[in-house]
Amino acid sequence: MSTQAATEDLAAVIGLEVHVQLETDTKIFCGCSTDAADAEPNTHTCPTCLGLPGALPVLNEGAVEAAVRLGKALHADIPERTTFHRKNYFYPDLPKGFQLTQYDAPICQDGELEVRVEDRRREIGITRAHLEEDPGSLQHVGGQIDTADYTKVDYNRAGTPLVEIVTEPDFRSPDETRAFLAKLEEVLEYLGVYDAERDGSLRVDANISMVPADELDGDVDASLLEEANRTEVKNISSHKGAQQALAYEVTRQRNAIQRGREVEQETRHWDESRGITVSMRSKEAEKDYRYFEEADLPPLEVSDWKERLEIPELPDARRERFREEYGLSAEAASKLTSTKEVADFFEDVAEQYDPDLAATWVADNLLGELNYRDMAVTDLGGRLSKFERLVELVAEDEITEKNAREVVLRGMLDEGQTPDEIVEAEDLGKTSGDEVQAAVEAAIAENPDAVADYESGDEGAINFLVGQVMQKTGGSADPGQVNGLLREELE
Ligand SMILES: [Zn+2]
Repeated sequence: MSTQAATEDLAAVIGLEVHVQLETDTKIFCGCSTDAADAEPNTHTCPTCLGLPGALPVLNEGAVEAAVRLGKALHADIPERTTFHRKNYFYPDLPKGFQLTQYDAPICQDGELEVRVEDRRREIGITRAHLEEDPGSLQHVGGQIDTADYTKVDYNRAGTPLVEIVTEPDFRSPDETRAFLAKLEEVLEYLGVYDAERDGSLRVDANISMVPADELDGDVDASLLEEANRTEVKNISSHKGAQQALAYEVTRQRNAIQRGREVEQETRHWDESRGITVSMRSKEAEKDYRYFEEADLPPLEVSDWKERLEIPELPDARRERFREEYGLSAEAASKLTSTKEVADFFEDVAEQYDPDLAATWVADNLLGELNYRDMAVTDLGGRLSKFERLVELVAEDEITEKNAREVVLRGMLDEGQTPDEIVEAEDLGKTSGDEVQAAVEAAIAENPDAVADYESGDEGAINFLVGQVMQKTGGSADPGQVNGLLREELE
């Protein structure tokens, strides 16, 4: 870029390549289990995923279905037939010497995903999404890749199904990439094809170019991008990482250009622990991979799969419906649709009890306490339904809201007990009317000074008496009701 650029305003043009691990029981081209997190290295392997001579790939229908569902959610074109290619390169984690991927006939093309950043809506174009296999994993012993004493290879991951989602260069800020990744994860989770908790389930490469801001008008002109050198940033594994890595690159490139230096066309590695990007090897060109069609996998006719496979109501639509149907605020609707599990649970509770009560208990109390503990709903395992009983106890007025929130909910989260166990152990059942009445009378008899203060117009004295009654009933009376009873008794 010329030194003239030093005085111009610069804008970022960013595109993403997102690798997502699809949740299937078995690998994409063989019957080996994908559930290898706790397995000994190289125990989830077979001749096919080890690339032994003569072993033949068989395409996993579940992976194709997941990709078609994703294509529908992204409003993408799903072609009549899709094919697989060999991408040839040599690396120790790739035993076959090639990766099976899709090249000129990917399973999804020309889609879009809408994101919102603050009040702006952005339509992000999806160029393509294609299926491929993951390589194995390398473990460097005694150092990093360039300093290790030796390196171990584990092929348990080899053949894990991935979908690679490639966007148009439609992002104009690191914030937008973060919003996009969050939205994409939400959609994938609703489709039931993705597990955010799984290690390495989302990996992102980003490419970024800095261009003169005044030449950037809606769509980006291809020649403008040609002129600007493109940097690819690899090794990003989270929304936050994408935002941070790209914010770092925007600053680094802007500084270089403003000092009259050239931004190199190169691949850089995001070092999350140091919060910087560092230069890597220069990137291979597509031609270096010598793609050719995989003869062992015939073309797959997928035209009718799109009609056959259904997708659930997606997060945006559900958010909108929650606002209309239950009269929720935008914030509550957004919290309650953050995952499909939470949204389903809320609807379940709202149908049985009052929607307002359900919203308070799920959005504010349950999610609030989980957030405070840095936990997600998925951390509750199958225990989510137990919280329905807690809402029932409140709805039926069997315990006070305060006890439900401060004792039962916290006990459930911290000790893993059931609501009934906690209510019994802590004796939280609401005190009967007679007992409250007796406590009110006793508090009046035992505190003549406070009664005298109240009668001489000191309103504060009633609070003292309420406190006394609450103490006598072990906190299980309703303070508002006690207040009323005291006043009645003192009149
Ligand atoms: Zn295998």
